[in-house]
Amino acid sequence: MNLILLGPPGAGKGTQSKLLSERFNIPQISTGDILRENVRDNTPLGQKAKDYMDRGVLVPDELVVKMVSERLNENDCSLGFILDGFPRNIEQAMALEETLEQDAKRIDHVIGIEVETEELIKRLSGRRVCKRCGAAYHVTFNPPSKEGLCDSCSGELYQRDDDKEETIVERLRVYDEQTLPLVEFYKERGLFRKIDGAGGVEDITSLIVGVIGK
Ligand code: AMP
Repeated sequence: MNLILLGPPGAGKGTQSKLLSERFNIPQISTGDILRENVRDNTPLGQKAKDYMDRGVLVPDELVVKMVSERLNENDCSLGFILDGFPRNIEQAMALEETLEQDAKRIDHVIGIEVETEELIKRLSGRRVCKRCGAAYHVTFNPPSKEGLCDSCSGELYQRDDDKEETIVERLRVYDEQTLPLVEFYKERGLFRKIDGAGGVEDITSLIVGVIGK
């Protein structure tokens, strides 16, 4: 099963992708995570991407498309995958179609998670992430048992640079302008499934599992 999780920053794409990945035993491909790893390791890709990410705008398509195509070619994607944070605009969606066609594959469902802007800002500005394992917390909604430390691996929690208020506003603007048109793009292809992302984590997973019919 090949899935795309679509939705604004803070909608819960990462959380839901991880849960679905475990449930269906198919990899989660988060372009944001892969790019952050490249920035952390100071790779040539990371050096090119860093400035765009710090500003909350999209990294150029050619870099991201190549990165995703390579990832999709890996063996663990043969039975399915969950794309989290890709595609982010029409060009990327068209490039994805082309890459998949070459392998006689296609997307089965595009899950659009919808959450109100005010709620997104609250979620993003309070988000803290574990430096070691990437687990996500929230200072109010999902705090760790020990302040600043990850419950599962005791790694240090930090606030992503792009989760600072001014960058959040820019990321949401970029989403509306460049990513939202994908809703129509995938509706035209009969693949779009809308999900209300306002509830609890497990409720939302159940909604998603319900619409994909598994
Ligand atoms: P995310 O973790 O998905 O919120 O992504 C963090 C940042 O990585 C974004 O603000 C972009 O700068 C960059 N990024 C992630 N995915 C993409 C993509 N598909 N295309 C371009 N830039 C991306």
